Amino acid sequence: MSVRVDPYALALATPLATAHGTIAERRGFLVTVERDGVRGVGEAAPLPDWTEDYDACRDALRSLDGDAAPASTLAALEGTPAARHAVALATLDADARERGVPLYRALDGEGAVESVPVNATVGDAPLEATAERVREAVEAGFDCVKVKVGARALDADVARLRAVRDAAPDVTLRVDANEAWTRAEGARALDALGTLDVALVEQPLEAADLEGHAALRGRGVDVALDESVAACGLEAVLDASAADAVVLKPMACGGPDRAVDAGRQARDAGVDPIVTTTYDAVHARTAAVHAAAALAPLPACGLATADALEADLAPDPAPVESGRVRVPQGKGNGVPAPPRE
Ligand SMILES: [Mg+2]
Repeated sequence: MSVRVDPYALALATPLATAHGTIAERRGFLVTVERDGVRGVGEAAPLPDWTEDYDACRDALRSLDGDAAPASTLAALEGTPAARHAVALATLDADARERGVPLYRALDGEGAVESVPVNATVGDAPLEATAERVREAVEAGFDCVKVKVGARALDADVARLRAVRDAAPDVTLRVDANEAWTRAEGARALDALGTLDVALVEQPLEAADLEGHAALRGRGVDVALDESVAACGLEAVLDASAADAVVLKPMACGGPDRAVDAGRQARDAGVDPIVTTTYDAVHARTAAVHAAAALAPLPACGLATADALEADLAPDPAPVESGRVRVPQGKGNGVPAPPRE
């Protein structure tokens, strides 16, 4: 098997706030494998806090040995999830192309899945602007919108959400607090959110506080955990009965195969899987769509993130229409491979 690694950098349409500061671009690597004339393409989009950093990812991919068995190659990338994601995706893409099936079928998806429901995401903004963006999302066909909260005082966020509810009475409303609240604030927030018919709150408390999250459940608003899954592992989240839903990012899980396994494990424990991207380029974003399709039916996922990039590496084979992302039905991931050198 031959392996090629190509770096890429793509400007973000809007800078992204992370725990490590604001980032203006996504940098990563495309990994192209080829065996017996069949090529597969994977993507590593490292994002510190969720995966290894860029340099660690690059070093891991540089040390790849095309002659090693695929299983031992993947095993060697255990500590670098973004690098593992790239190699797992490239291998799965090649396998699926060889078999002539779409990637989600190679991930053991059952039956044909034409589309997957997705949510729109609305960032922090003043009250009027927040309501306006939600209105726009509903007009674009989304019936589930996730609003970022926690950057303002709780009362200000509740006022924003009240304006959203007035602007969009029927939309399924989720909020993502990204660990912003204390336990007391979290309890107060959930009571207020319940009166606004908010369906789900994502990561209200800090990642390590599984007990606190468990105590917030059963108040009429589902609790979804995202940062906690990355920090504590899925097993611990499930053992602590800390969540009604878990957010699974294939890049952070170490591959679309891992995300699908995690989703099945969560579902077996009665917890809903929600698949989201890490603002990746088209190869990883589309692979996340296939991972979600392999888990379908599932709640609205965070896969409508193509607009986060100013430009992309290839045309998008999985466009979002009326609140659903279309699942590519061609061979493999559905993204054309980069030209041979
Ligand atoms: Mg989140």
